[in-house]
Amino acid sequence: MRRVGLVLVGGYLLIAAGNRVAEHFGAMRCGCAEDCWCRRPGLSLFRWVFPWGHRSTYDAQEKARLDRTAH
Ligand SMILES: [Zn+2]
Repeated sequence: MRRVGLVLVGGYLLIAAGNRVAEHFGAMRCGCAEDCWCRRPGLSLFRWVFPWGHRSTYDAQEKARLDRTAH
């Protein structure tokens, strides 16, 4: 059954890499705060496949509001 585990881990990393590429090309956008763990280099790969522990909402919304008023 070790092979099943390897396939699962491989698929997980493949999805993570695919989402990271999509994000790079602007297809997806992270709404997290600047100090969220997924903003750190190396951890951003898992941003879209590990939805726990993100620090988001208020800071991001506040920033978006400020961006709107600036334009
Ligand atoms: Zn995050």
